[in-house]
Amino acid sequence: MNIIFIEPAFPANQREFVRGLAAAGATVIGIGERPVDYLDQELRDWMLHYQQIGNVTDVGTLVEAVRFAQSRVWIDALESTIEAHTMAAAQAREACGIPGTSVRTAYLCRDKPSMKEVLRDAGIPTALSTAASSAAEVRAFAAANGVELVDQKYFYTEERWQALQKMKEAEKSGGAGGKKFIVTDQDRHGTVGAVALDKNGNLAAATSTGGTTNKKAGRVGDSPIIGGGTYANNATCAVSATGDGEYFIRSVVAHDVSALMEYRGMKLQEAAQMVLDKVAKLGGTGGLIAIDHDGNIALPFNTSGMYRGHVGVDGEFVVEIYR
Ligand code: ASP
Repeated sequence: MNIIFIEPAFPANQREFVRGLAAAGATVIGIGERPVDYLDQELRDWMLHYQQIGNVTDVGTLVEAVRFAQSRVWIDALESTIEAHTMAAAQAREACGIPGTSVRTAYLCRDKPSMKEVLRDAGIPTALSTAASSAAEVRAFAAANGVELVDQKYFYTEERWQALQKMKEAEKSGGAGGKKFIVTDQDRHGTVGAVALDKNGNLAAATSTGGTTNKKAGRVGDSPIIGGGTYANNATCAVSATGDGEYFIRSVVAHDVSALMEYRGMKLQEAAQMVLDKVAKLGGTGGLIAIDHDGNIALPFNTSGMYRGHVGVDGEFVVEIYR
């Protein structure tokens, strides 16, 4: 069986598909954007031929390369595993008469709105969705579809309201911790994060936040920024951070913890503390929760407290707030 495989050398894990195909007895022909020198000997040995082209998502160029291969050998299949390449691969298959996933199916599998459309047409209830570029558009869409809309007051909580008033007062008097009122860390932050290691050695991190109290409209903190407030890497650790997002972004906190482990061979605890100390030096407060690939945990913070809890294989739950 002769198979064209798109982008065998990038990202690095793609070689595994080539290795597997070759091991199963297939003859693999690679088409990719990397120069042939980029490919190591082992990868080259798994393939009959490799052809470099300018852009694997440019259907015209891809088809030309596939046709060239077809002029030499019979091609049974053309495959790609990278999401960005699946459409181009399907189009090339169709243009070159190679059996496999059709353009229509590739499109449906890749694109959620169109997948939903087909499900709806088949009478399967599917969550509504729309593309919106403003809050007003989202509200109009919800209203048009009979979703109950609630007033801002619905989200009111006395505690958060008082925290906001304190922050506004502090801002007016030119400092975050004015004399007349004490702004606590709890008043300023409210992020929820989780890190986990599963039995197969996979690490994961998740962070959700309402941002900092009294933030500017449209501000984006560190929580959704991979590497800033959230990061996981099976080779090192998983990290979720809370604190003054601006400082955590500048220090690329979550990734920095992982990088210190990866490049300096540091232990999690030491790496986490070192990164948090860097944040403190810049003037940022906060903390982080982290777990490494061996299940060691680190929960450092430079604030008065940080709500935190952990559970290990022994099943014992530990919950703490202050030091
Ligand atoms: N880190 C979050 C942010 O800056 C806030 C928080 O942790 O409470 O948006």
